[in-house]
Amino acid sequence: MGPSARIDLSALRHNLRRARELAVGSRIYAVIKANAYGHGLLRVAAALDESDALAVARVEEAVLLREAGIEGPLLVMEGFADREEMEASARHALEVAVQQPEQIRLLQQYRLDRPLVCWLKVDSGMHRLGFQPEAVASAWQQLSASSAVAPGLRLMTHFSSADDPADPRTREQLARFGMLRERYGVACSIANSAGIIGWPESHSEWVRPGIMLYGASPMLGRTGEQEGLRPVMTLASRLLAINHFGKGSPIGYGGTWTCPEEMRVGVVAAGYGDGYPRHAPTGTPVLLNGRRVPLVGRVSMDMLTVDLRTQPEAQVGDPVTLWGEGLPAEEVAGPAGTIAYELFCCITRRVRFEQVGE
Ligand SMILES: *Cc1c(COP(=O)(O)O)cnc(C)c1O
Repeated sequence: MGPSARIDLSALRHNLRRARELAVGSRIYAVIKANAYGHGLLRVAAALDESDALAVARVEEAVLLREAGIEGPLLVMEGFADREEMEASARHALEVAVQQPEQIRLLQQYRLDRPLVCWLKVDSGMHRLGFQPEAVASAWQQLSASSAVAPGLRLMTHFSSADDPADPRTREQLARFGMLRERYGVACSIANSAGIIGWPESHSEWVRPGIMLYGASPMLGRTGEQEGLRPVMTLASRLLAINHFGKGSPIGYGGTWTCPEEMRVGVVAAGYGDGYPRHAPTGTPVLLNGRRVPLVGRVSMDMLTVDLRTQPEAQVGDPVTLWGEGLPAEEVAGPAGTIAYELFCCITRRVRFEQVGE
């Protein structure tokens, strides 16, 4: 039997309350793009009914939510890509980010059944999406004049480096955006999870927590637990086999790791075919019977191997946690050269999902 992903909905709700506690007075867009960071779009949307609003990246994600009966404010952070998506946005009463001139042209060109709630997205330094600060006045004026845009245009921006409290770019972004905020005096949204946790001055009217809702910390070198968060996903499996090898025996593909002495090696039923990162090197922690053992050798598609020298009593069938309760995903992501976000998003379809804490 392969791994399961246990989704703890009470931890999810706890993390939402934690976001509220940190950003007192701000309203919340719970970010559930990319299948709720791999946790399951609909189950997460339903469990986050205490959020003020939801946010996804793409129109098709928002349409899935509407078709599943999820009502309430729902923001598409990339906005619509063409006329069809614009009309779908209006039909489903979505809120949209407007981040480039082509979108304004579409809004001016076509009539919509009902006007769209629009967020004018400003590029304050991320240099990915958004209008440059000097182009905002013209975009603002055109949008305000369009009958396709609902009254009450708002402003948003996104941080590039807020995960590092020492990075001066966040303050520069805040200063650039702050001038516009003052000029227009409208509702604004700036902070992602890193802004909520590390930059109180970024909270503004609306915050957009993503990763923190799932229990991981966006801050460099920190874990969710240190931020008062609880892990939502626990990726669990079992010890599939135990083998005994002599000193010098190579383990797994390429024989990249060899036994330094006569020892037992455990085989865990989890591999990159489940979404465990293939780049996790020897030494990456794995929780066996609630205690850490190091991964050894290469991760294969269905299995990985662990050093059992510290657990002489371990038996086939013993429980293993790859990350989650008892082992922060950040501690696996770091050695594998990635971030918890990617681990969560990469869980594959053959992993069984279970939900608890309803
Ligand atoms: C993904 C995303 C967020 C959430 O970011 P986290 O780091 O997961 O909190 C917020 N805003 C925008 C525009 C995003 O794309």
